[in-house]
Amino acid sequence: MLKSVNPVLAKNVSVLGATGTIGLHTLDVITQHPNRFKVFALTANTNVKGLFALCVSYAPRYAVMLHATAANELATQLKAIGSSTVVLHGEESLCYVASHEEVDTVMAAIVGAAGLHPAMAAAKAGKRILLANKETLVMAGNLFMQAVSDGGATLLPIDSEHNAIFQVMPRQRSEQLSQIGVKRVILTASGGPFRNASLDELKAVTRAQALNHPNWVMGPKITVDSASLMNKGLEVIEAHWLFNALPNQIDVVVHPQSVIHSMVEYIDGSVLAQLGNPDMRTPIAYGLGYPERLSSGVSSLDLLTTSRLDFSAPDLERFPCLRIAYDALNLGGTAPAILNAANEVAVAAFLAEQIGFMDIPCMIETVLLAASIEQVESIAQLVAVDAMARQHASDWLSVHA
Ligand code: NAD
Ligand code: MG
Repeated sequence: MLKSVNPVLAKNVSVLGATGTIGLHTLDVITQHPNRFKVFALTANTNVKGLFALCVSYAPRYAVMLHATAANELATQLKAIGSSTVVLHGEESLCYVASHEEVDTVMAAIVGAAGLHPAMAAAKAGKRILLANKETLVMAGNLFMQAVSDGGATLLPIDSEHNAIFQVMPRQRSEQLSQIGVKRVILTASGGPFRNASLDELKAVTRAQALNHPNWVMGPKITVDSASLMNKGLEVIEAHWLFNALPNQIDVVVHPQSVIHSMVEYIDGSVLAQLGNPDMRTPIAYGLGYPERLSSGVSSLDLLTTSRLDFSAPDLERFPCLRIAYDALNLGGTAPAILNAANEVAVAAFLAEQIGFMDIPCMIETVLLAASIEQVESIAQLVAVDAMARQHASDWLSVHA
């Protein structure tokens, strides 16, 4: 049983991307611990209905929508029921609720590059950041890690693989993994719905097939990324920044059961793994409670029904996105930000049924190879690089879609 906590001491949490899969899982865990957590702010892009329902349930101090029209609609609806939630809009307001002095914990669960500024604001303000938005680290890994350190923030990875690695990694940080006795990190990948598909079958993949992930329920962008293995590629880059792992110290192994969430190999030959049912409430509860453990609502892992754990090497011929992500990491500088932007455009075009599944890596690689890679110096530079890569990707689309 958990100790009961004085409600006055309950932590204020801002949930960015509250209407998404991770946002809703976060609220599920928070609901299980009403004495520990208070919802301070909830944010969403355009989903007025979803955010309205959440505001009714959680009565946050602030609700933020990206656009003014959606915010006005939400404000009108909330006013009609006598709610005292203050409705704001725009990116600045996302940053405001991510860095507000009364906020302890920020769940960064906006999808894509749109999550960068609020995550940076939380880092600079020294918050406990539960980072689901991997794109922040892919785009701006060095600047974000620096902001975390300068701001005195506590960074807890929520991506299940990185959360697993964090759980089995030594607590002390080091510039080099070898100094803390670690040889390599091993990211597991489910392999997605097309793990056994031939190249010809992959070319004919439909939107509906790609959105049907075997093990995880996730938002559409990350579901397509999981099917193409770009998600694993983004996670390789994420692991590089989170754990100071060199590209050759990050391996990927396909593990279709998604029971081992990732592993750390030590120099003495020990391999430590974190296991559990594939349910994001486990890493979320870990992040919310750290260093304490909180119940999450996740059922016990039944090893007897699991019965076997399989492993195989990823096939970089059929899943070139993973190779391209390693290439971007090795290129360094602005290359991962370019990769991320091109991928966001490619996935949106695939979801809009403008391009085929195997056009995704083709477009990304074309954009990456055509770009001039620079050293990363500022967020403003990365925003410009992101916009240019999106423009190049759109140019590719206008010829090929
Ligand atoms: P989702 O699509 O279900 O939800 C995205 C949320 O972000 C929604 O609340 C949406 O309103 C908001 N949003 C979208 N665009 C926005 C914008 N331009 N400005 C402000 N808000 C915006 O996505 P998800 O599956 O919850 O994933 C969220 C993040 O977590 C992604 O970065 C993803 O890679 C990461 N992640 C998700 C999972 C998972 O299991 N779903 C696992 C690991 C990591
Ligand atoms: Mg993951």
